[in-house]
Amino acid sequence: MEIKNYMEILVMEKLDIVIKANRTTCNCKRCRYDIAALALNSLPTRYVATSSGQHILK
Ligand SMILES: [Zn+2]
Repeated sequence: MEIKNYMEILVMEKLDIVIKANRTTCNCKRCRYDIAALALNSLPTRYVATSSGQHILK
């Protein structure tokens, strides 16, 4: 078992959609992680317990 931040999973999953919707956004790894960090700083943390490798999102 492990503890994961559900918000982190959610942000990483939605990142592609957000970047595609904003054509001026740089799509390199560095900027993607910067955007994810910015988003996570303004979101509440929601930790969930999960078995490793298990998919939390449906
Ligand atoms: Zn970039």
